[in-house]
Amino acid sequence: MQHHRHLDAPLFPQMSLDHRLIDLLVCPLCKGPLDMLRDPEGRPVALACSHDRLAFPIRDGIPVMLEDEARPLEPTA
Ligand SMILES: [Zn+2]
Repeated sequence: MQHHRHLDAPLFPQMSLDHRLIDLLVCPLCKGPLDMLRDPEGRPVALACSHDRLAFPIRDGIPVMLEDEARPLEPTA
């Protein structure tokens, strides 16, 4: 028998909502789709609009979709 990891206790209960959330969320400026940015541990940290090159922060699991709070996307190598 293989040893299976326990999957019944999610580390981040909000994570299961992420995909639904990101489907509903669009950029408040251009109404375009957003990309989720994650930290090295896989936690969502921001939603990025590649059109406007802005990243909207996610605080306590809640996306802050305000232009004033957005940060310019850093160019990726
Ligand atoms: Zn946009």
